[in-house]
Amino acid sequence: MQFNPVSSVQFVYTQKCNAHCSHCINNCGPEETAKLNPKKVIDSVNEISELKIKDLGITGGESLIFLDEITAILSAAKKKKIRTSMVSNVFWASDEKKAKEIALSLDKAGLKELDISCDSFHMQFIPFSNIINAFNALENYTSIKPCLRFTLSKSKSLEAFILKFKDYFLNKKGNKLKIFVQELLPFGRAQTGIPKSEFNSKKQINKNKCVFLGNPTVNSDNRSFICCNGFDVESNAFVLGDFNKSSLTEIVNSYKKSLFVFYLRHKGPYFISKLAEKHNLEKKFSTSHLKLLDKYIGLCDYCVLNLGQYSREDLTAMLEKELSKDKKMQKLAKKDALKKKKK
Ligand code: SF4
Ligand code: SF4
Repeated sequence: MQFNPVSSVQFVYTQKCNAHCSHCINNCGPEETAKLNPKKVIDSVNEISELKIKDLGITGGESLIFLDEITAILSAAKKKKIRTSMVSNVFWASDEKKAKEIALSLDKAGLKELDISCDSFHMQFIPFSNIINAFNALENYTSIKPCLRFTLSKSKSLEAFILKFKDYFLNKKGNKLKIFVQELLPFGRAQTGIPKSEFNSKKQINKNKCVFLGNPTVNSDNRSFICCNGFDVESNAFVLGDFNKSSLTEIVNSYKKSLFVFYLRHKGPYFISKLAEKHNLEKKFSTSHLKLLDKYIGLCDYCVLNLGQYSREDLTAMLEKELSKDKKMQKLAKKDALKKKKK
């Protein structure tokens, strides 16, 4: 049964990056070489269209190091009327002329939204003038929607950033400004690059269901995941397949059918983790290398650290048993599957 809806496919196009931020959860940097095959990504654009998925996202690393490849992918998506968005640290916007040139080429290729990474972690590598150049170029010469993307930590708050630059962003572009904020997570390079005191960990465990799903993600090393986390765990709990060996359609279908995803959407990581404890599910993988803090920051670090200890097969078998006893969840599964068919 296919019960999990998919709103977009995300490609972590490359691990290469001009910057080497201390908080980078993907361990990206100038020496990294992992990158997806552009032809394979372009071919999968046709599959995304046939699957009737409306959005495609590109992150990294800094994927605009490979500008020609990225514009080819964006153009292929534009032909199929797929909406595209991407994240960039705007290293390319070092002066107004260059910023305009790149912004125009992205616009021509059909990009709809550019998320500009612009917190103080990034600004150790990218001057603030780049952000202004990119923002102005997008606003003045293109129809691409700019979005400012921040990572928060204790000393680097959004308020401090806005206060510092409010004259520019709030007075000039306040009405249109879109801001995306994410918490600093204790994964990747942040494990060693950031003092523990900087993480906003909380006393209470987040018992919510996961509302971030719907975007299966292909990583630059070709492993594909149910979301953009879990790259650092040995377990296959979060893995959907290998983009080298499987078609995108197979990967998306594996997501749609995943009982693990279904329970994450409707019950959340805390429920699944407690159920696994109740069933004495074998912890086949250690996530202790990721355990930096005594408490958790939010849903995602709780989810990866706890559920990343189990295998996908064991979790699925446990959830199949659970579903067979739970009439309410059976009804919900049928309802979700029906909704999917209608779409
Ligand atoms: S956080 Fe972004 S800009 Fe910084 S190293 Fe990682 S991918 Fe590059
Ligand atoms: S890590 Fe868990 S909680 Fe976070 S987005 Fe992925 S599935 Fe959801």
